[in-house]
Amino acid sequence: MLASKLAEKLAQRRTQQLYRTRRTLSTPQGPEIIINGRPILSFCSNDYLGLAADPRLIDALNTGAATYGIGSGAAHLLSGHMRPHQELEQALAEFVNRPRALLFSTGYMANLGVITALLGRSDTLWEDRLNHASLIDGGVLSRAKLHRYPHKDHTILAQRLLQSSKTQSSKTNSTLIATDGVFSMDGDLAPLPELATIAHNHNAWLLVDDAHGLGVLGATGRGVLEHYGLTIEQVPILMGTLGKAFGVFGAFVAGSELLIETLIQQARSFIYTTALPPAIAYATLESLHLVETEHWRRQYLATLITELRQQATQLNLPIMESTTPIQPLLVGSTAKANLWSQELESQGILVPAIRPPTVPTGQARLRISLTALHTSAHIERLIDALARLATLKPEYTS
Ligand SMILES: *Cc1c(COP(=O)(O)O)cnc(C)c1O
Repeated sequence: MLASKLAEKLAQRRTQQLYRTRRTLSTPQGPEIIINGRPILSFCSNDYLGLAADPRLIDALNTGAATYGIGSGAAHLLSGHMRPHQELEQALAEFVNRPRALLFSTGYMANLGVITALLGRSDTLWEDRLNHASLIDGGVLSRAKLHRYPHKDHTILAQRLLQSSKTQSSKTNSTLIATDGVFSMDGDLAPLPELATIAHNHNAWLLVDDAHGLGVLGATGRGVLEHYGLTIEQVPILMGTLGKAFGVFGAFVAGSELLIETLIQQARSFIYTTALPPAIAYATLESLHLVETEHWRRQYLATLITELRQQATQLNLPIMESTTPIQPLLVGSTAKANLWSQELESQGILVPAIRPPTVPTGQARLRISLTALHTSAHIERLIDALARLATLKPEYTS
């Protein structure tokens, strides 16, 4: 009974072309990888600064492991909070210019933890429709009243907040606005200055998830808040991840003393889980140092982004508006996205098809992501392959 139910659902997914499978890499992360024994040019990782396999991070991981061991052995509130964790929290807080930071084991858990710690049944949460799944799931788990506003539409958000403040019986309830800083499947930025004003006007908290901006955006890599020049007063809650541009693993929340102490007391995904391996925290300290000192990575990435966009525009490829390393081609149907992705892969180029339910129906896309380890030659190869797909096979473009 159970087996046939599962088989039926899986078959349905297959016919809808939504079946997901994994690939196995036998090399470190990077532009040129080996998958199933085959060399592949990858435009498929969030390792934006190209740090995931940096020899200095590998050395730091080794040193961290030799000094502190592999496992943390316990949750932070028991005996798992070690010196590298403490030092990393302080260094991250300093990096993002906030009084405190708190480590979480993943970004997914950080978002669940913050939202459930701050909101309960009688509170209200507003989220961009394209927010990352972890922000949505945190909202559901918190039992707060969850509203989703149209993507980046701060005007509608302001209108709805105004309406709900007129009808709400109790003004003492908490309101939180939560948004991705850089949207993970579109690469565009949230209108944070406007959201900050709206949050201020409605006495709401603003939470920004900067998973894709941290290390990449802003003159010194401090992320989307640096890009916009926003302060802790405007954005009291900042979440960042360490598995993307930092090339390591884990996440943190940064904010005021009161916020962080509240999370330590209340964030269940912080309290009831084993602390990150101390060697990971130790390696992340080194990564933070590289993010802060090797500005060439961000600058070079910016030139690659410009190159890709110019060439894609010349070919009339449906490249979406984005200034970040996430450069999606909006191809439309799920079938077409799959076909393009498969064609590219058969030519040794990996660009994932992003399909519903990750993106809305009819907005399937190829998600190209660039890193500081790509070269102009890599981009040329991608563009040539895309040009062949678009011109030699017109049936693919309809
Ligand atoms: C990747 C991502 C997360 C989750 O972070 P992990 O550390 O991978 O769990 C959260 N939010 C956004 C916007 C992300 O892109």
